[in-house]
Amino acid sequence: MSDAQLVAQLKQLCTQLVDFAAGCPRGGSEAWDARLAELGARRLPDEERQRHLLQGAPLAAGPLPLEFRWALEAVAAPLLPRFDDTGKGPAVVEEAMRSYLARVKPRPTTSSIFANAMATTKTYANTGAGSKTLGCETCGAPRMHGNEALVCGYCGSERFV
Ligand SMILES: [Zn+2]
Repeated sequence: MSDAQLVAQLKQLCTQLVDFAAGCPRGGSEAWDARLAELGARRLPDEERQRHLLQGAPLAAGPLPLEFRWALEAVAAPLLPRFDDTGKGPAVVEEAMRSYLARVKPRPTTSSIFANAMATTKTYANTGAGSKTLGCETCGAPRMHGNEALVCGYCGSERFV
């Protein structure tokens, strides 16, 4: 199979997962847990889920971004080694990750912008991070306290801005 066909197949699988996950309630559901189990993907322990819901990027719906990434990686795993150009598969996965986050983030309203601004101000005051924003480029979550690695603790993306 050519890379173009693999890209098309992978996109289809990723889109199905994005649609399924975006239709789940905030924080996931039994159906989501069943999908993770079916894919052989990890899930966060309940207390970690609660912590991510409280401290990670705001979600209006859907399971936690990190669990979504694990499911996405499980979906993509059988196809990735078949690409001639090894960069193409991961690019589709990242695109699906961003489209999922765009679907589940809360719609900005005047009050939520204000609430976010207040929450952000409070976070800076608590961490002493000053005026420079240190957040995840993909999901917008603040860097997890004590996490010095350049991987987001909330969505698994590799870069911070
Ligand atoms: Zn992130």
